[in-house]
Amino acid sequence: MKIMTVLGEIAPENLGTTLAHEHLIIDVSCRRRMTDDPHLQRIAEEPVSMSILGDLRRNPTISADSLRLNDADLAIKELAYYKELGGRSLMDHTSRWIGGRPLELRRISQAVGVQIVAGCGYYSPALPESLNELSVEELKERLVGEVERGVDGTDVRPGFIGEIGTSWPLTPLEEKTLRAAARAQVETGLGLSIHPSPWDKSAHTLLDIVESEGADLRRVIICHLDHVIDVPYHAAIAKRGAYIEYDRFGVEWYSSQETLRFFPRDTERVVALRTLIEQGFLEHILLSQDVCQKIELREFGGHGYSHILRYVVPMMKKMGVAEEQVQTMMVENPKRFLSH
Ligand SMILES: [Zn+2]
Repeated sequence: MKIMTVLGEIAPENLGTTLAHEHLIIDVSCRRRMTDDPHLQRIAEEPVSMSILGDLRRNPTISADSLRLNDADLAIKELAYYKELGGRSLMDHTSRWIGGRPLELRRISQAVGVQIVAGCGYYSPALPESLNELSVEELKERLVGEVERGVDGTDVRPGFIGEIGTSWPLTPLEEKTLRAAARAQVETGLGLSIHPSPWDKSAHTLLDIVESEGADLRRVIICHLDHVIDVPYHAAIAKRGAYIEYDRFGVEWYSSQETLRFFPRDTERVVALRTLIEQGFLEHILLSQDVCQKIELREFGGHGYSHILRYVVPMMKKMGVAEEQVQTMMVENPKRFLSH
């Protein structure tokens, strides 16, 4: 058994405390929301600064600048806080379609001394039309090629497949990429992470599709489930064998002021996790913050990569989650998912 990091293989015992879903260099302008409001239109074009932080926390996806993390030196500085608190590893889910730069990940990992496990995959809605022409088998071959040789023409090898971005209802291309990823999971034995449309309940359909391709659901993560706390739904996903990922810790603002969608608070996330643990799903839970925007970095008034270790773990303990259970979620579960 081994785990592939951007610097090469490590023994699973050396993985340590791991954030299961982060982004260090990313461009998610594909998620940008346009607005008719003249005040917000102005802000949407400005660089992120203190004077517009309040606006951006209520309208987090309007800002072109905030949707881009493109500074490796800043990533090194931000990750250093995580390392200081005992963080050893993180999984970076950024594929080439959303600005992933594998060689930069290698440089960041070397500079800060945090182990980075990179993903590879297809992220809708950022995919080019031309991919429609490829068959499921051809899409799978590309992924398997990346697993064997390295991501995006580099020699940086991925340690898992994902995140596979999907919306709801699925587009034909999303279904094809999902099937391709499931076949690549079977062929390579690597784990697979899937980004569902986070406000919809599409996970069972996604799992049905990957299962029909022969994928092992115990090697599958459903990401972003803590956009909407729904314990019976999350328990049902775990019951099928998959990992349930609460990966938006620290995000407690509006998703969109206009649609009145509001993220849960961290305390609500912990209450839900406590129930899932009581119901026997401890071994299916993964934790992270999914930092993917400037306003989530410490440099720009956010909580950064260190938030879970600095604030959430102490809160969990006060709320009745045992140290050993935290270790299972942050060390043992990522280790099991990544080992092959
Ligand atoms: Zn995602």
